[in-house]
Amino acid sequence: MKIPYAESFKIKMVEPIRRSTHEEREKWIKEAKYNLFGLRSDQVFIDLLTDSGSGAMSDRQWAAIMLGDESYAGSSSYFNMKKAIKAILGFDYFLPTHQGRAAENVLFSVLVKPENIVPGNSHFDTTKGHIEFRKARAVDCTIDEANNTQLEHPFKGNIDLDKLETVLRTYPKEQIPFICITVTCNTSGGQPVSMQNLKEVNTLAKKYDIPVLFDSARFAENAYFIKKREKGYEDKTIKEIVREMFQYADMMTMSSKKDAIVNIGGFIACRNEQLFKEAATFNIMFEGYITYGGMSGRDMNALAVGLDEGTEFDYLDTRIRQVAYLASKLDEYGIAYQRPAGGHAIFVDALKVLRNVSREEFPAQTLGIELYLESGIRSVEIGTILADRDPVTRENRYPQLELLRLAIPRRTYTNSHMDVIAASLKNVYERQDKITRGFRIIYEAPIMRHFTVELERL
Ligand SMILES: *Cc1c(COP(=O)(O)O)cnc(C)c1O
Repeated sequence: MKIPYAESFKIKMVEPIRRSTHEEREKWIKEAKYNLFGLRSDQVFIDLLTDSGSGAMSDRQWAAIMLGDESYAGSSSYFNMKKAIKAILGFDYFLPTHQGRAAENVLFSVLVKPENIVPGNSHFDTTKGHIEFRKARAVDCTIDEANNTQLEHPFKGNIDLDKLETVLRTYPKEQIPFICITVTCNTSGGQPVSMQNLKEVNTLAKKYDIPVLFDSARFAENAYFIKKREKGYEDKTIKEIVREMFQYADMMTMSSKKDAIVNIGGFIACRNEQLFKEAATFNIMFEGYITYGGMSGRDMNALAVGLDEGTEFDYLDTRIRQVAYLASKLDEYGIAYQRPAGGHAIFVDALKVLRNVSREEFPAQTLGIELYLESGIRSVEIGTILADRDPVTRENRYPQLELLRLAIPRRTYTNSHMDVIAASLKNVYERQDKITRGFRIIYEAPIMRHFTVELERL
């Protein structure tokens, strides 16, 4: 008999979770104004809100925490992080920040000016927020294939080179501070970018003399997909692939809460000393001194270890197989999701699951609430609420896709939890005829409204 696959870790510490009743959940979600961010964690049975900072650290990471050096300047933890960034990503200069959006805030304070254009592949929400906050504009150049959830394409995060070149030709280079490539592309479904595409974008960028920024939160998952799907990379290690990927970047921002498997942290890295110096000034203003930038020494230590563990094949294989396992259950139940399954999450196609809820009434958000009511699973809307209003017209922006993201925290849940998630979605799917109305917004913030939006049931 063929020996089945099993996880590449065993469990040393556990945290109890509790199932609630349907009545409790009805009450709690109403109190949360039908915003899943408004729930308390003990009101949630399986938390798939995000894979950001919610993973389980290893014994090695916890051991590194005990060795954290909390010196204000020049701590050994800073140098551990510097060494890991140089060895794994190849950058000489870096600045720690408290998380990914802080890295964006600091770097974009140097680079992004009003009227600027930042082309890229489906910019992440905080990235887009930091661009638009500076009165600049993000232009999405993702390949069209990404908008068809049922189409199998190995690299749906790729940038369409024609779309990109049109942008580069249309605007003077002074107006384009950088090209932003998100690896993996979170917003289009955790979809990877191929090595070939990274290389071609870099070539085009050089032609127009524009730097390339990698928004790198899930760079290791991207490398795993390159290994699995791109010809010529089968026999390379993840670390070899990562080094090659980053050759095509001039700078990077990182949310370490993702592929560096820590609970908090981020950084900026670059090759240009002048840029580093300019960013360091903003880092000192917004985050902290150059050698800690909003992070404690212990967290920098855990991050350095996490970068190493996060780029090991066995770890990534366990993680991405779990996402694929959940996908296989959804296939069995006929539930549509962004295909093929991404690295960190399943993105359920809400328009295909709740066919009777109109787009004006937020079908993906409605599906998220039904899933919570079903069994206490917390997911997140990646649809019209997240897409927010157009900064100029203030009209709702309807994205091509209306998705419900089920983000899987790293090393946190077992496949039994995946079974519960799949069965719960199946139950919602089976009663979709009874779900005909969605929600109405009663309060929203002027920017990044999804975090604090308040809703009313229609
Ligand atoms: C999470 C994320 C960010 C923002 O990072 P935070 O640590 O949440 O501030 C930016 N870009 C991408 C692609 C991300 O996934």
